[in-house]
Amino acid sequence: MESPRTSYRICPLCEACCGLEITTRGREVVAIRGAPNDVLSRGYLCPKGYALKDLHEDPDRLRQPLVRRGGTLQPATWEEAFEAIARGLQPVIEQHGRDAVALTFGNPAAHKMGLLLYTGRLAKALGSRNVFSASTLDQMPKQLANGWMFGHWLTMPIPDIARTDWLLVIGANPMASNGSLWCVPDFRGHAKALRQRGGKLVVIDPRRTETAAIADEHHAIRPGGDVVLLAAMVHVLFAEGLVKLGRLEGLLDGVDAVRSAVTPYTPEAAAARCGVDPETIRRLARELAAAPRAAVYGRIGTCVQRWGTVNSWLVEVLNALTGHLDEPGGAMFAKAAAFADNTVGPPGRGRGIVTGRHASRVSGAPEVWGELPMTCLAEEMETPGEGQVRALISVASNPVLSAPGGPRIARALERLDFMVSLDIYVNETTRHADVILPGQSPLELLHYDTAFPQFSWRNQARASAPVFEPDPAHVPEWLQLTTLGVIVSGRGSTPAQALQVDDEALEVELQRVTGSGAQAEAARAAMQAQGLRGAEARLELALRSGPWGDGFGVRPEGLTLERVLATSGGIDLGELQPRLPEALRTPCGRVELAPPVCLQELQRAQEELHAVQPELVVIGRRDVRSNNSWMHNLPVLAKGRERCTLLVHPSDAASRGLADGAMATIAGAGAALPVRVEVSDAMRPGVVCLPHGWGHGEPGVQLGVAAQRPGVNLNALLPDDVRDAPSGNAVLNGVAVTLVAMPAVAALAAAD
Ligand code: SF4
Repeated sequence: MESPRTSYRICPLCEACCGLEITTRGREVVAIRGAPNDVLSRGYLCPKGYALKDLHEDPDRLRQPLVRRGGTLQPATWEEAFEAIARGLQPVIEQHGRDAVALTFGNPAAHKMGLLLYTGRLAKALGSRNVFSASTLDQMPKQLANGWMFGHWLTMPIPDIARTDWLLVIGANPMASNGSLWCVPDFRGHAKALRQRGGKLVVIDPRRTETAAIADEHHAIRPGGDVVLLAAMVHVLFAEGLVKLGRLEGLLDGVDAVRSAVTPYTPEAAAARCGVDPETIRRLARELAAAPRAAVYGRIGTCVQRWGTVNSWLVEVLNALTGHLDEPGGAMFAKAAAFADNTVGPPGRGRGIVTGRHASRVSGAPEVWGELPMTCLAEEMETPGEGQVRALISVASNPVLSAPGGPRIARALERLDFMVSLDIYVNETTRHADVILPGQSPLELLHYDTAFPQFSWRNQARASAPVFEPDPAHVPEWLQLTTLGVIVSGRGSTPAQALQVDDEALEVELQRVTGSGAQAEAARAAMQAQGLRGAEARLELALRSGPWGDGFGVRPEGLTLERVLATSGGIDLGELQPRLPEALRTPCGRVELAPPVCLQELQRAQEELHAVQPELVVIGRRDVRSNNSWMHNLPVLAKGRERCTLLVHPSDAASRGLADGAMATIAGAGAALPVRVEVSDAMRPGVVCLPHGWGHGEPGVQLGVAAQRPGVNLNALLPDDVRDAPSGNAVLNGVAVTLVAMPAVAALAAAD
């Protein structure tokens, strides 16, 4: 028997990015635990971490390409697959133009270096306006608001959890997620430490979430009332003279404009809509202002609403006006060792961000960060005319389950001329593809988190070598994307041609970051000696040219890929440090505290103060054993109690004659679904809660474990024509639904 071997791997299953210690014997994973010496997670892992073994061994995970022949997806060689893709895509482009091919990419793409670094390159090669991603399903409002304020799409402050003494969490459940756009593995431990040093945790959420359950205070807000609550807190700061700009005075533009914009939002005016009483609103604003070290953190719940952008903006306005922005213990900016646009170029000033460079053809929704809203995808495929989407490239995305109007998207996919997917499963979306290119097991990849160190609670650099040698015949994902790029740009159709194109682009990049002299020569030699190409070579360049890099020999003690890989737990780069104005990339070189669109939106949002509220609304929820739609096929996560249940407050259940465990029908947006009721006093009355990402019972899906308990698709109940206007983000929370008991015979059938 072979001896056991220990490897270290950053967990790719969620944004917490925990370090794992993985014991293997031969090709088998025998144990996974939190890596005790990991500089970010320090031994923590959640139940999903163990599931990496199941993911690696999942018999349903694709290991070779599939090509549709005679109506069914059949195993094929890589050569056959790329030939089929060229035959399918090129005529569409020739006859109908580049906009006729759409590109979607999903959340798992953020957790694989090769996918995240190369999806943008594919989009550029394709040159289509029809690019869609999961960002417009849950995070674009936060990116847009922060982009306007600080000048880049990924410059977002996070709570300095290790030093804060007062933390307000609104619309987030880090006990289940361990942070989102905030990498904070072991949130529970951090929250405990905060309270042990005398600090306070306040949670605002319509449900008493796992985070609310450990908090000092929980306020069950009425869904969609965030905008009036946050604006009222800002109003109190001005009304009571609590504004304190501190070190940032002179660096914040637009304070008076904010003062005037929140004038109508008195606590008394806001209370009815948000469901939080005026005295509590005042007290929260006063406590935030008075705390020496405090932060406000808002996340998904605040984004997936009609006022998502203005909510995200107001969160940072609260941090800024109370002197907590960019201060230790407040809301601070991480400094990533590689791939962060706020660490390159001249510090303190930049081009800022722009939106609306084009608009969607049917609804006229503006482009944001090069993307159109995912909720526009179906209509762009369905609606005839010039620019109609006739082909699709999907990269690790499953909009049939993850986007509102999923069933409509599925019908439209079925009518496409051609579809190619890069994925690890035949799922609800990829079952419609003509070709599926298989992704690799995370355990066979060298990995570095390209995005998440920008949101880490502590500065660090960590990289993981492959745990297992990859199958040499498997085309790496970055090269798959590059091959798709050469196909759509007419520069070839094989990985060998793509490799040449990428090598040429890499050389240009190398010369750009090193200059053309001895440093370039040394960088080339080092990459050659280590056998680095593609994504790995780009990582080496980014680390060495980054803020902690060796500058290609200029700072010999600095970071290189080799040096980072040589550590099992990564390199600690210290606690967060003040970064303003250096991190700014706004054209004015100051913080734009009052972006004009946010002011306009806040004015429009006054309609909320008098809006009649529906009798019952639905919200989503995050479960520690799940993450969107792609982990329901892993036995270690799928076992145990049923998770796709509808949480209903006892009073709402009683008024509908629903007992705990009963089957009911929930209806909205023209769809009706059978759900099992879980009566729970954790819910605010008038609000029900269902997790998203479920609904695996569709024909043609090859997810054997998930099919045993498929759940229902929350997104089928949600409208696909209601969005946060500036960002195009879908509205997923606070949507009106009806709920009725299911007749006994139907309930028996639905429960089977
Ligand atoms: S919290 Fe769990 S799923 Fe997320 S990175 Fe850590 S171990 Fe992985």
